[in-house]
Amino acid sequence: MTDGEKRMTFPNPMLVVVSGPSGVGKSTIVAELARRHPQVVPIVTATTRAQRPDEIDGVHYHFLTESEFRELIERDGLLEHANNHGFWYGTPIDQVRGILAAGRDAILTISPEGARNVRRLVPDALLIFVMPPSMEDLAQRLRDRGSESESSIARRREDAERWMAEASDYDHVVVNETGRPEEAGERIWEIIQAEARREPPRRPRV
Ligand code: 5GP
Repeated sequence: MTDGEKRMTFPNPMLVVVSGPSGVGKSTIVAELARRHPQVVPIVTATTRAQRPDEIDGVHYHFLTESEFRELIERDGLLEHANNHGFWYGTPIDQVRGILAAGRDAILTISPEGARNVRRLVPDALLIFVMPPSMEDLAQRLRDRGSESESSIARRREDAERWMAEASDYDHVVVNETGRPEEAGERIWEIIQAEARREPPRRPRV
């Protein structure tokens, strides 16, 4: 019996949190990982920031107004929420529960502040930090994205320097080598597989 089959018979779903500085390529890595391994289901988080031209509502984010976001908080609909660079972001709790109840691994791509909060709220979550090969590489990626002003890049870079110091609080660190998101995705998949064999198993309660 392969590891995959064993897990289907005795599901031991995990809540995986992928964090790291913005622009490091977390979303691309997670999209690659989920495409190759349907056992892993990405959570679509909610935000009040404006939709970028290449983004689809309900796929990349649930784009909400400030008042819709506040309502969600008031109904206890978010596992965690945080203000990143002036906008609100939050994790819809029903999605996390639904994915775990279906016996699949829920994967959440959030800011380091969010990761810290999930660690506190769900101690059995698996936390993975994605690092850029260098700070220069990170700034260049933000510039290439074309959606960020120089002042926004400078702010994100300052945040990144602060956050990198926290990498040791995570269960695992993965370096996203420039232009190789599928490799970083596979590395995360290997980590998930190894963690699934862990005794005692992680039992995320959400
Ligand atoms: P961006 O605006 O570049 O898409 O995302 C900015 C930051 O917000 C990224 O680090 C992203 O991972 C993070 N983020 C996205 N969704 C959430 C969420 O639900 N909670 C938290 N805490 N951060 C999030």
